[in-house]
Amino acid sequence: MADVLKKVPVREQAPKVRATNFDEVCLGYNADEAMEEASRCINCKNAKCMQGCPVSINIPAFVHEVKEGNFEKAYKIISESSALPAICGRVCPQESQCEGKCIRGIKGEAISIGKLERFVADWARENGIRPAAPAEKNGKKVAVIGSGPSGLTCAGDLAKLGYDVTIFEALHEAGGVLVYGIPEFRLPKLDVVAKEAPINDENDVSHGRKLPTVPPAFPSAAFSPVLHILLSYSSSFHSFPSL
Ligand code: SF4
Repeated sequence: MADVLKKVPVREQAPKVRATNFDEVCLGYNADEAMEEASRCINCKNAKCMQGCPVSINIPAFVHEVKEGNFEKAYKIISESSALPAICGRVCPQESQCEGKCIRGIKGEAISIGKLERFVADWARENGIRPAAPAEKNGKKVAVIGSGPSGLTCAGDLAKLGYDVTIFEALHEAGGVLVYGIPEFRLPKLDVVAKEAPINDENDVSHGRKLPTVPPAFPSAAFSPVLHILLSYSSSFHSFPSL
């Protein structure tokens, strides 16, 4: 019988193999491994893991659904709070956030919350499950400046609320640090970032015109009412004038 105090090990490329390619090193859990790892969670009443999650994902609820094999339900629970679970499941510093507070970790190893989140998000993507579309559009347009993780999250959440969102990005690809800062072996760009980023017709988030470094005339008239969202990374990076 498996030791409940220890995490189910996650499969990785062997060192001699990964030295020959740039593919993702961590291979993630399969369904059986994810269910076994989820069964270590003791479903705490006062779940400290949630206090460590910056977006307050209902971790005990989604982990419970993984344990039961209800992966779609688990995905829906995560999607209520996070627009980027396959990305966060790979690159969030879980050891100092959710897993750092996990009560199972007091005596033994914390639950692999990040790996479970990643498994659920990958499973949903591979099975064509998408976040729920907004019930109805509210007829308002919003411009989001910068398509890094905060811009994408903001755009995804606003689209869920029924806004028509356009993301403005100065660089060639949407994604900011996800594309230009994190190496492929940690975060695959085409298979994960491009597929998870909420830029598609389905949820009305579009990749807008590319901005020059300093936009001479921001097209505010096109967004009425306009919610100018200057994200800290973008604004410092691009030196935007005050709008
Ligand atoms: S703190 Fe750990 S053991 Fe408790 S509910 Fe959260 S993940 Fe499960």
